[in-house]
Amino acid sequence: MRSHWKKQVIVLSSPGRVSSKMQQLILPVLLASFWTICTGSGDWCYQSQFTCDHQCNAPDKWNHAQRDCGGNHQSPINIVTRKTLKDERLTPFEFNNYQQIFRDTIKNNGHSVKVGVPHLSTISGGGLPSTYKAVQFHMHWGNNGGPGSEHTIDGEQYPMELHIVHMKNEYTDLTTALSDPEGVAVLGFFYETSNSANRKYDPITNTLRSIKTTNSNTSLPSISLAQLIPAEQNLTSFYRYNGSLTTPGCNEAVIWTVFENTIPLSVDQLRVFSELQFHDGKPMVGNFRPVQPLNGRQVFRSGGAVILVSSTLLLAAIATALGLSQPN
Ligand SMILES: [Zn+2]
Repeated sequence: MRSHWKKQVIVLSSPGRVSSKMQQLILPVLLASFWTICTGSGDWCYQSQFTCDHQCNAPDKWNHAQRDCGGNHQSPINIVTRKTLKDERLTPFEFNNYQQIFRDTIKNNGHSVKVGVPHLSTISGGGLPSTYKAVQFHMHWGNNGGPGSEHTIDGEQYPMELHIVHMKNEYTDLTTALSDPEGVAVLGFFYETSNSANRKYDPITNTLRSIKTTNSNTSLPSISLAQLIPAEQNLTSFYRYNGSLTTPGCNEAVIWTVFENTIPLSVDQLRVFSELQFHDGKPMVGNFRPVQPLNGRQVFRSGGAVILVSSTLLLAAIATALGLSQPN
């Protein structure tokens, strides 16, 4: 690439031998070659990875190679809570075998850290059209505990987001499930910084140190899905919309659930994720896709999901109801 660029410069720098017509031709070629140099045609990447020296396809160019990434039902999105619609059909989930202890491999796949899950844990209810089984989970995060979630709530970006990917029970592989517009159900959970460490995450954070480089993997100590997420009784508040995978191919086959309750992790625990490396050895940080346009989609909320009202307003309302605000 660089030698190609040099050649173009040499031709231009000896204009005596080039006709003006040739010059008219050379300039666009030069611009085009510069464009190629700076945008490249390599693997897809996150915005945090893009520099002119590192040619990769940042999120705004994912649709060049994967047409679905330019679709109208893309994820993630910003959830504007006052525009969500309460839907009584969004009943609590039934989690089956989420307590099941399993051992699987944890892998740095160059974009995230991914853990395969034996297809034993299932979800149903929660307004889902069918039973879905867990396939894998992974996270998206920021820089050393800074903003890093994919979904945002009223513009707020959390430090990290967990995605537990499920597919319809009848499928045996994710590729087949992705060709069904309701083939995949992803549960999204936000993390929030806590003062004390969340010991239930020790098996994961302790293992991250041995998979710093891209494509490395190791076996994960025994864990269950249940230990990674809030207690079942705290999972009745969630948002629902139809969207896509948040990485290329961006298949629009995902029923999204984003839970209101967060998972606590200490800053030190969050920081360990930033020690992972992209394939070029740079810190794996900012591995989230920017929020995508809603394009008219409606976001629903479960009966449990509350729109936060200021406590002053709430107290005033209670006072009025009790007749306390009456001057008599
Ligand atoms: Zn994800």
